[in-house]
Amino acid sequence: MEKNEKLVIKIEDIGVNGEGIGKVDGYTLFVKDALIGDTVEAVITKAKKNYGYAKMLKVLEPSPHRVEKRCPVARQCGGCQIQELSYEAQLDFKTKKVYGNLERIGGFSPEFLDSVMEPICGMENPFNYRNKAQFPIGTDKEGNIVTGFYAGRTHQIIPNMECALGVEVNQEILKIIVDFMNENHISAYDETTQRGLVRHVLIRYGFKTGEIMVCLVINGDKFPKSEKLVDKLSQIEGMTSITYSVNRENTNVIMGKEIGILWGQGYITDYIGNVKYQISPLSFFQVNPVQTEKLYGLALEYAGLEGNETVWDLYCGIGTISLFLAQKAKKVYGVEIIPQAIDDARNNAKINGIENAEFFVGKAEEVLPEYYAQYEKEHGEKAYADVIVVDPPRKGCDETLLHTMVKMQPERIVYVSCDSATLARDLKYLCENGYEVKRVRPVDQFPSTVHTEVACLLQKN
Ligand code: SAH
Repeated sequence: MEKNEKLVIKIEDIGVNGEGIGKVDGYTLFVKDALIGDTVEAVITKAKKNYGYAKMLKVLEPSPHRVEKRCPVARQCGGCQIQELSYEAQLDFKTKKVYGNLERIGGFSPEFLDSVMEPICGMENPFNYRNKAQFPIGTDKEGNIVTGFYAGRTHQIIPNMECALGVEVNQEILKIIVDFMNENHISAYDETTQRGLVRHVLIRYGFKTGEIMVCLVINGDKFPKSEKLVDKLSQIEGMTSITYSVNRENTNVIMGKEIGILWGQGYITDYIGNVKYQISPLSFFQVNPVQTEKLYGLALEYAGLEGNETVWDLYCGIGTISLFLAQKAKKVYGVEIIPQAIDDARNNAKINGIENAEFFVGKAEEVLPEYYAQYEKEHGEKAYADVIVVDPPRKGCDETLLHTMVKMQPERIVYVSCDSATLARDLKYLCENGYEVKRVRPVDQFPSTVHTEVACLLQKN
């Protein structure tokens, strides 16, 4: 295989960035923009020894799972890598991916997986599910204010106010802001010169409460004529919080550290299940609240609590799972590396009147082993947990942590994962050390993207 060679390729899989993957005579090719099930004509753009990259020239035979994309710029934007795949086929792909990783990396047999895997939990309406959106603000060639998204890996803005994953009110808000800026000659930030005022607009929406937050990220300390903007924005039904965030740094980080209130309060409120959360512009909050409720509901079900248990929730973020569990357990300990997230977790416990949750700031792989060692020293016996829940980032759990978890001998371990490859690796370790996988269920938190979450229950042998 050589560069510039033209080929016909049948696409059999989807890569980590949504690209199509096919094989020709055993040689693997990654084909951007090709969809699983397509037969395409492509030209090789880069040829390595065992694999290469190709550019699609045309679709010879379209995948039977191709659907009309909802958003004309789906591919360009990079957010929706597989929007052109029917939702059923997306769910099928995600299930197979989890299954494949558990088999290949975890070493579980197909018979075993068939017996523990439950059908993927998808969405009824796989669009408009995001409760948070961040839009960059810029200027087009004619000097007009535009907003949309960055094209590919550049910082050039492609104008687009409609996003199929966001809520509808986003468009109304963006239009008000763009018109206000044009009419009042408020400048947009220019990254090359580092001049201009408005950098980004953050919008958050509470799915259960209908409360809306708008935060303008600005390269300055003040927001001129903001009362005119506030006048319009505050008339939108549900508007609760209008703020600005000062970010004067030359950086890709969107939000600044300080928040100033222009109108209303500094946060919105929303619920996951019956637990209430206060969400400020800087808070972390799960972006798909509908699926989060299902995923964490599943974690709760797997935890099998009866009211007397001691539970650890590792990588607890703002305590979403911890507070869910606390309602059914005797005591919940949460551990999280980001101090602000723990501030939010403690505050959320307080506003819900939850008193049996305690939170620690630190690395899970340090906090738990230290707690274990300290406990043994003080009490002369081993620290015990009935249930341990983990919800780590993509890299999965540190082995030091898994080692301590096993020493604590919890009856059940509930593993919530956003990367089934590292999940498979960690399950293998746990199964070699006295645990058995009982239930596995993928949950589709991010329709139209290649990402998938998985909940898994392990039981002590
Ligand atoms: N269940 C949480 C989200 C978990 S996402 C919620 O709903 O809020 C994974 C979390 O792990 C993130 O909040 C991240 O900051 C945290 N994290 C990353 N590395 C960590 C580590 N080594 N120890 C503890 N927490 C960590």
